[in-house]
Amino acid sequence: MVDIDDLVFTYGSGGFQLRVPKLALARGERLAIVGPSGSGKTTLLNLIAGILTPDSGQILVDGAAVTGLGEAARRRLRASHIGFVFQDFALLDYLSARQNILYPYRITPALSLTPEVRARAQVLAAACGIGDKLDRHPAALSQGEKQRVAICRALVTQPKLILSDEATGNLDPDSKARILDLLFEQAAAAGAAVLAVTHDHELLPRFERVLDFAQYRQEAPV
Ligand code: ADP
Ligand code: MG
Repeated sequence: MVDIDDLVFTYGSGGFQLRVPKLALARGERLAIVGPSGSGKTTLLNLIAGILTPDSGQILVDGAAVTGLGEAARRRLRASHIGFVFQDFALLDYLSARQNILYPYRITPALSLTPEVRARAQVLAAACGIGDKLDRHPAALSQGEKQRVAICRALVTQPKLILSDEATGNLDPDSKARILDLLFEQAAAAGAAVLAVTHDHELLPRFERVLDFAQYRQEAPV
């Protein structure tokens, strides 16, 4: 589902450089990424999603070279294949929770907002424990509730690849386990691979593989 070769990325301002010689994620595989803050975990997810562009190297998502695509094609690939739960949620304040969850359908012409999709959003929200809060705006939601909205938005398109950045970070232990169950259930039903950055070490046994990111940390040469 993901194939990375000789990836090098440097932020324009210099300073931090990420090098990932080789990383492969099979269809349906569940991989956890751990590592110290600032080791480039979020950067890697942004590279896979085509939000950032590497200096060199190759990233394939479902056989398509993200790195060779233009901006519009990358956006299409993202919409059709990837569900991204952002570390800071990235909800839009002026939209209700329901509109946030359905947002991918607003911005992606290839996705059509059918009654089935609306029903799926409702079922997901109920399973996440926010079924009765869908008309609220983010300002009226707790951190944990915002996180659940972000998770529902990532799952509603039934993506083949779920990228999750600390998706359980703001939840209590019971909710963490329940949300991860839901994420894995949805992933299994859709045959989706999960790449999850997490600091919750008690959740690691639930993944098939754990990658420690400390090894990839490198400063750019000055
Ligand atoms: P992690 O998610 O593992 O905590 P990040 O990928 O967010 O780490 O960041 C890796 C490094 O890149 C950090 O040193 C961070 O300060 C730096 N960094 C992140 N975003 C930017 C940016 N937009 N411009 C320059 N440096 C950045
Ligand atoms: Mg991060």
